[in-house]
Amino acid sequence: MEEYSYIIVGSGLAGVSAIKGIRSVDKSGTILMVGEEVDFPYNRPPLSKDLLLENKTVDDIYIEDENFYEEQGVEMELGTKIVDLDPEAKSIQSDNGATYTYSKLLLATGGYPRKLDIPGGKLKGVLYYRYLSDYRNLDEQLEVSDHVVVVGGGFIGSELAAGLTANDVGVSMVFPENYLLERIFPEELAETVQQDYRHRGVEIINGDVPNSIVNEDSNYLVETSEGRSLEGDLVIVGIGISPSVELAKKGDLDVSDGIGVDRYLQTTDPNIYAAGDVAYFPYTALGNLTRIEHWDHAIKQGKNAGRNMAGSGEVYDYLPYFFSDLFDYGFEAVGEVDSSLDTYIDWKEEGKKGAIYYLSEEGSVRGVLLLGLWGKKKAARKLITEQKTFTKIELEGGIG
Ligand SMILES: Cc1cc2nc3c(=O)[nH]c(=O)nc-3n(C[C@H](O)[C@H](O)[C@H](O)COP(=O)(O)OP(=O)(O)OC[C@H]3O[C@@H](n4cnc5c(N)ncnc54)[C@H](O)[C@@H]3O)c2cc1C
Repeated sequence: MEEYSYIIVGSGLAGVSAIKGIRSVDKSGTILMVGEEVDFPYNRPPLSKDLLLENKTVDDIYIEDENFYEEQGVEMELGTKIVDLDPEAKSIQSDNGATYTYSKLLLATGGYPRKLDIPGGKLKGVLYYRYLSDYRNLDEQLEVSDHVVVVGGGFIGSELAAGLTANDVGVSMVFPENYLLERIFPEELAETVQQDYRHRGVEIINGDVPNSIVNEDSNYLVETSEGRSLEGDLVIVGIGISPSVELAKKGDLDVSDGIGVDRYLQTTDPNIYAAGDVAYFPYTALGNLTRIEHWDHAIKQGKNAGRNMAGSGEVYDYLPYFFSDLFDYGFEAVGEVDSSLDTYIDWKEEGKKGAIYYLSEEGSVRGVLLLGLWGKKKAARKLITEQKTFTKIELEGGIG
């Protein structure tokens, strides 16, 4: 049985950031990182953007080069899944039967793609897009694909549709909402973006869902609940993720929509922490409990967890941002950008560029989406954390 000061389960962004956090406090404690994927840790955002647009190659997307882990004295156990956790013995067990013990453990296990629970949902040509292996698979298939059916109108589906179109591949998108990114964009913006997609040749089938998928020769036929038939050489699905909480459950930790942690990112066991996409945490800046599936959050929360595992005792009160690119629409967003809130758009350039404010019932700013406006995140954060109330007129020209 091997013993470590720190074990990190999950070789994603939160895990790597935790290494940096630990080493900023403790230069010598032993660290083991175990990850199910065989690849060294990489950034996921380029999988649906820069790699498809050929702005980057796979070599560009690794979070750190391989030497980093050796230099930091981190033992890497890749291609290995942890299948059991015993908090009393402070031990974990891998799928190849190895047992490791820890002083402090981080669960940075992220999430896995939700699957379509319909006939044909598990066929070979139905790709659930999250991992570098999925990109490699898609890249190979693109050589022989003319048309792809994309299921889901959220970030992954919308970004992939743009990336595929840039590769001269025809795209049909199907999703249950009325508009792309409906849960984030106010209707006015959602409508504009959707029209842009249509103008660029993407077939949009909204208000509909796949009922079954059938494979005929090298073609896939998607039958929808509204009676449509969509045909593609490939079906790509982006319908969200489920947090990977299985280990936490085995260890009898508190689990709800993710692994429950406190402000110090500690689970119900004081020796076990969680961070990144999997953590259900107190969002201090907005005063609620939540789980966030974004890149900047994984970096900051992973680092904070690492520092706390090494004894620094710091509250996680960061207000993260996220970003996306949809053809020519690029944006950054801070806070709660939920279109069910009252919204106000302060256009700088009608339909193209502007600040979108998401307001509470009392009129305080809960979130800001900066469409085509760069370098304004700090101002947006200030508006949110001040918690002052504003009228829409007062917000005009506030940012940008
Ligand atoms: C295609 C794509 C595009 C994205 N684009 C953006 C973007 O534009 N902007 C943005 O803000 N965010 C974006 N994101 C989200 C962002 O990448 C994630 O929030 C971030 O990667 C989360 O990191 P994580 O380390 O918490 O989890 P993950 O990246 O999910 O890493 C968890 C790792 O743990 C491993 N694991 C799980 N269970 C076990 C186990 N039992 N044993 C061993 N290993 C295990 C998994 O295999 C995985 O490698 C995107 C995500 C995807 C998939």
